[in-house]
Amino acid sequence: MVFNSNAVDELTKKLEDALRLGEFQESKSVGEGSTHPHSDTGNAADNSVAVVPASSGDHESAQEEFSDVESFSSSSGEDSDDDITIYRGPPPPLTVYRPFLPEGTKSLFPSEGLSLDAIVDMIKSGTARNIIVMAGAGISTDAGIPDFRSPETGLYDNLQSYKLPYPEAIFSIDYFRRQPKPFYVLAKELYPGQFVPTKSHFFVKLLEKKGLLQRHYTQNIDCLERVAGIDPELIVEAHGSFHTAHCIGRKCLKEYSQAWVKKKIFQDEIPRCSVCNSLVKPDITFFGEGLPPRFFELLENDFGSCDLLVVMGTSLLVQPFASLINDVADSVPRLLINRVRVGEASAPGTGFDFDGKHVGRTHRDALVLGDCDAACVLLAERLGWTDELAELRSAFLEETNCLGQDQ
Ligand SMILES: [Zn+2]
Repeated sequence: MVFNSNAVDELTKKLEDALRLGEFQESKSVGEGSTHPHSDTGNAADNSVAVVPASSGDHESAQEEFSDVESFSSSSGEDSDDDITIYRGPPPPLTVYRPFLPEGTKSLFPSEGLSLDAIVDMIKSGTARNIIVMAGAGISTDAGIPDFRSPETGLYDNLQSYKLPYPEAIFSIDYFRRQPKPFYVLAKELYPGQFVPTKSHFFVKLLEKKGLLQRHYTQNIDCLERVAGIDPELIVEAHGSFHTAHCIGRKCLKEYSQAWVKKKIFQDEIPRCSVCNSLVKPDITFFGEGLPPRFFELLENDFGSCDLLVVMGTSLLVQPFASLINDVADSVPRLLINRVRVGEASAPGTGFDFDGKHVGRTHRDALVLGDCDAACVLLAERLGWTDELAELRSAFLEETNCLGQDQ
């Protein structure tokens, strides 16, 4: 395989980046019947994915910002990184962030800079036993999933021949209806089953094994959570997955099995519905589509009973996913593991507050800067789980005969 593991930020950042094209988010929405609990507007468009600038963690403002935009533009992809924080350089050294809190700040953590230790203690002591993990592309980086936008991969050349208006058009439902081939080419290349879960995935599996995982919310479509053996009941694939597929004919929507679609994709055929001849698409959430109902069904209970939130490897730019960090109670500690700081609050209660800037609110946000795998290894070490984490991974590799791919 010729993957450039450095280039990889994500099969899912696919969505994050692509959605940044949220500049042209479509206003229509599917997913009827599912209501976003944050919605004050009652607007049906609330269910569809959107992206907010890094400065805003607020869902409602995101809607306002993008709700008027209706058309795609072939130039929309240009300069699209300017307003967001995506880290493209080499991995930064792992850093446990040590804030200098303003005098008198109340903090959940016993002393400044020791927030990670405090979180470790909470897990060890059983104070945190309903842990929610929210994950993005960063947890799959080390799986070697190729970046379809990187000229260094053969994939990029393959896709170039389709003259995409911009790379992320692949995940636009409108573009897909007109020109489905690039998506299927990409799907074949990225199809689940060809990649090995990372240490981050196995860390989440370990949380499950210890009975501490309330739920794992992922934006990734690589299915590596399932591959790592995490109970599907404990996973919410917020942006869908390859696991199921449907005809996209609006009056048909016939369901197709993963095996059937996979066979077509690997035969380089475009899967079409046997009833209405429309395209059959894996249930991955494209721009302009609603999120899976399961996402909305589980939110309230999950976040209401969460006692520790761990956010890993996401730029927190895609809504409504990003605003979930505000759904846990004020007393719940939140840990961000990411290459760069993201999701910070512009106003109290709208995001992370690593530095205790928002007077009157209890400081409860911890930050580890660096790669997810490195941070999970560190966490496991502090928790005394190093051997168990290694065992999970090696057992998996042995079982799947992938030892040659170990990192
Ligand atoms: Zn059909």
